[in-house]
Amino acid sequence: MAHHHARKRFGQHFLVDEGVIDAIVRAISPKRADNVVEIGPGLSALTRPLLNALDHLTVVEIDRDLVARLRNTYSSQRLTVVESDVLEVDFSTLGAGLRVVGNLPYNISSPLLFHLMPWADQVIDQHFMLQREVIDRMVAKPSTSEYGRLSVMLQSRYDMEKLFDVPPEAFDPPPRVVSAVVRMIPLPADRARAHDEAFFSQVVARAFAQRRKMLRKGLGDWARHVDWDVVGIPETARAEELSVAQFIALSDCLGAAAL
Ligand code: SAM
Repeated sequence: MAHHHARKRFGQHFLVDEGVIDAIVRAISPKRADNVVEIGPGLSALTRPLLNALDHLTVVEIDRDLVARLRNTYSSQRLTVVESDVLEVDFSTLGAGLRVVGNLPYNISSPLLFHLMPWADQVIDQHFMLQREVIDRMVAKPSTSEYGRLSVMLQSRYDMEKLFDVPPEAFDPPPRVVSAVVRMIPLPADRARAHDEAFFSQVVARAFAQRRKMLRKGLGDWARHVDWDVVGIPETARAEELSVAQFIALSDCLGAAAL
């Protein structure tokens, strides 16, 4: 088949290290009847071994040349190719019990993680290769420099574990950064959650807009609605010191004040 020139605008870095490919597939541990969706199959580095282990696989790919290759290579009974920008895909149409995987295009990693959140109830797990720095932020604990909006939002919805690092040489062309693989498992339905999740998201965004300021100042005119003793947060706290549970308490307290 003709050589494919990697397209920068689609964040194309193809996995070539068999050991790494194998380690990712083992981490996913696919079972034949699993409903797996791969984002960005590219030249099939993960697609091929996944298909070997599965009855059927769905992939979402934006690059029409790569879509044509995939359709020419695999039967449509085994592989469903969705030609689309993944940020426009309605995951509710892909069925229940989803296992979402991918070596993601790094230029859309945060928007994609947020795009997937509303469907977390339908998802069993997600395994993604991302920039290591992004994964460090996803799993960061309070009072660390990596802890921020991404950490709080994702930790409010998923249990997350960084699995292993992947060096640039594992890809062709090599990216400029070190990558890593993360496992994300949606928290159960009885998890602690804000009464109004859209408002929770606004509170977290506003709090981290000025992460080093005292929260009391960063929240601006919202701050006078907070009963700091009731929410169990010191009045001098900064956003980066609050746990997810404290953010939920803060959001509920502000929501009750009907802002
Ligand atoms: N999975 C392959 C591998 O591991 O070698 C390719 C990984 S490459 C980092 C990212 C893939 O995502 C490319 O195939 C690229 O064309 C595709 N892609 C980029 N942006 C996309 C988008 N918005 N929606 C769907 N696929 C996208």
